[in-house]
Amino acid sequence: MKNGVVIVGTGHAGVQAAASLREEGYDGPVILLGDEKDLPYHKPPLSKTFIKDTEAKPQPLRGETFYSGHNIDLRPGLRIDRIDAGARALDVAGGGTIPFDRLILATGSRPRLLPLPGSDLAGVISLRSLDDARIIRELSANASDAVILGGGFIGLEIAATLSAGGRKVTVVEAADRVLGRAVAPVIAAHVHERLIAGGVRILTGTTVARLEGENGHVSAAVTSTGERLAAQLVIVGIGVVPNSELAETAGIATGNGIRIDNRMRTSLPEVLAVGDVANYRHWATETDVRLESVQNATDQAKLAARTILGREEAYSAVPWFWSDIGDMKLQMVGLTTAGDRHIVSGDPAENKLSVYHFCGDRLIAIESINRPADHMLGRKMLGAGFSPTTEQVQAGPDALKAALAAHQQAVPAAAAG
Ligand code: FAD
Repeated sequence: MKNGVVIVGTGHAGVQAAASLREEGYDGPVILLGDEKDLPYHKPPLSKTFIKDTEAKPQPLRGETFYSGHNIDLRPGLRIDRIDAGARALDVAGGGTIPFDRLILATGSRPRLLPLPGSDLAGVISLRSLDDARIIRELSANASDAVILGGGFIGLEIAATLSAGGRKVTVVEAADRVLGRAVAPVIAAHVHERLIAGGVRILTGTTVARLEGENGHVSAAVTSTGERLAAQLVIVGIGVVPNSELAETAGIATGNGIRIDNRMRTSLPEVLAVGDVANYRHWATETDVRLESVQNATDQAKLAARTILGREEAYSAVPWFWSDIGDMKLQMVGLTTAGDRHIVSGDPAENKLSVYHFCGDRLIAIESINRPADHMLGRKMLGAGFSPTTEQVQAGPDALKAALAAHQQAVPAAAAG
């Protein structure tokens, strides 16, 4: 492959794809490019530690010398405008083309915009990139009141962070509860209660009708119920949309992201897609999903590298995710969509809680707050295809560990017999 592999996007997925190509033994050219100018960095700390600590530095995904040391041609600050699928080349914004033999699209997603009067005022912003986080950190230094539009993971993380830093924070959520359909009602209710107890105000079933400003800077958010909330900082966290336009205009199949098969291949055989932008039929639920998590970006990127090297492996990673909201570490493993039976364990009064989701007798997911042992066991149990009984769940982690160990001993024995 003379032109080698070109990767578009220097986020979690793109960087992992480049690293995995080298780890797997690929020795052709690797170009890793993206439109952000910073050395590729971890996104999760942006909504957690970075915006509250004026001294915090971005956390690089790999050290500066990693790229040259592995013969990876890192080209930050480069935007791709078009894929010329016939010529197997990329058009660079501002001029120039880059040819490829194989292309990995790791273009991620971007914040959904809110078409609202006043949303173009200074002080109104979404958080996706390090540049956004730098702006939020600066703005919050001079803000006594903040309004967060959207009670999803990122919105609530930011709400807890700003509130702990002494700002008066109001979250405005259109649905009847925070965290939407992403978690079980008991988890959402616990997060809601604890944030309120910590001083965050949460308005559910409410939207923002307009934003008002003074001298071009936001000064208030007016809700659908007519309440005027003072705000020198408004953060819009109402979800993301996949950056799939490059693929779409090149004739690659899309639909809530770029459609890929279980080897990360798009409808064009020489083009693969991974991470937030990729939509695939999930091996466990048999539904089309587009997951937004570091785990998904990392594991898909690893498999894309293996596919390019001709290893015939189907994607089978167990999905997991975490979020830190104030003093609550939420961890989720598996997908809850097909759940029809739920076992709650732990004690909300101790701020420790888990929900085990079952489909019939089959364990399909675990969500936990400050119960890391449940989460780690969940990853092992789902990875091993083991489903505990209600009694074992209720008996706690030691009983679960023993049951899993017994299952793992029995399975090889059964396979051998
Ligand atoms: P991205 O990281 O979005 O990278 C895509 C890159 O491609 C971007 O740099 C983009 O600018 C670039 N790009 C797009 N189009 C082009 C183009 N045409 N030309 C050139 N470059 C282009 N996940 C968790 O699991 N746990 C967490 O706690 C968590 N917290 C988060 C907190 C924040 C504030 C954010 C924003 C995300 C968080 N996530 C978390 C989600 C996680 O960061 C994403 O799922 C992950 O970044 C996806 O990686 P990606 O490489 O697919 O996309």
